[in-house]
Amino acid sequence: MQVAVRNRTQKLCVIGDPVLHSKSPIIQNTILKAMGLNYVYLCQPVPRGTVAQWLQCAKYMGYAGFNATMPHKEALVPLMDHLDPDAARFGAVNTVCIRDGESWGYNTDGLGFLRALAEVGIDPTERTVVLLGAGGAAKAVALKLAASGTKQVYVCNRTLEKAQALCALDPAQMTPAGMDRESLCRLAAQAGLLVNCTSLGMTGGGGQFDGFSFLDYLQPGVPVCDLIYNPAETELLHLARLKGHPTQNGMGLLIHQAVLSAEYFTNTAIDAAEMAPLIRRALDELEP
Ligand code: NAP
Repeated sequence: MQVAVRNRTQKLCVIGDPVLHSKSPIIQNTILKAMGLNYVYLCQPVPRGTVAQWLQCAKYMGYAGFNATMPHKEALVPLMDHLDPDAARFGAVNTVCIRDGESWGYNTDGLGFLRALAEVGIDPTERTVVLLGAGGAAKAVALKLAASGTKQVYVCNRTLEKAQALCALDPAQMTPAGMDRESLCRLAAQAGLLVNCTSLGMTGGGGQFDGFSFLDYLQPGVPVCDLIYNPAETELLHLARLKGHPTQNGMGLLIHQAVLSAEYFTNTAIDAAEMAPLIRRALDELEP
């Protein structure tokens, strides 16, 4: 896409290692252009272990901010001059704003997920959530759901110790479990919302579930969400949809966390519903 760069154009970017596959530049430039905001958003490789140097560099070069992807999200936490409550709680920063030479760290994943749910009319309040996975994405989603009036969040993970460590951050609201068939079937029967935060089903070697018999135990009408957006419909979502469950893929999260970041960067209110079709079109053009 074409972006007009002028002398006063403000600089933003995404950092990571690797990062060249990132969709953030196309998404953010689409938002910034649609909003008529004078920013350009670049893709900046930053090698693992060098994020402190990058932060100094970004401040010196007058960047307005940047997004961070793996492996920098955790390393940024102690480097921030100011940290928002979600970033502190999740122990991970995915959005950094640089204002008057000071860094402000945010995490937009948890709220982005809640907004994506709200967009399709799902209110997690008072629901029992069965969440699969205990990695970085699961941590933000689980902790945000746990703090949002859910009845209980069951975190099921192949490596039980990781689920236990995550649930120890909010033991009253979160309970760890394994990813074995028996656990999944037992918990699915209690679920008011099922969310896959593992990489199982992802295009390009995410692996696949051993089986989907746990879907038979869901009550009718229980929504099934997947953080994965490539493919647009994972096997999990496909089978859940065939059984009549409402389903949602990870595109909503991708869009909402990006819109939130753009709002922080530019201090401008942005209508995600207005941006969503533009972002989807830009991504489709990227990968026909
Ligand atoms: P991560 O930190 O590497 O965590 C991966 C999770 O998947 C872990 O819980 C891991 O379990 C589990 N897993 C991986 N292979 C498995 C297998 N063969 N069997 C059982 N469990 C397995 O990754 P992440 O950053 O949290 O991302 C997770 C997924 O969410 C990815 O597909 C990613 O693309 C997606 N995501 C989407 C968005 C979005 O905007 N929509 C944002 C972030 C992430 P163990 O702990 O046992 O290894």
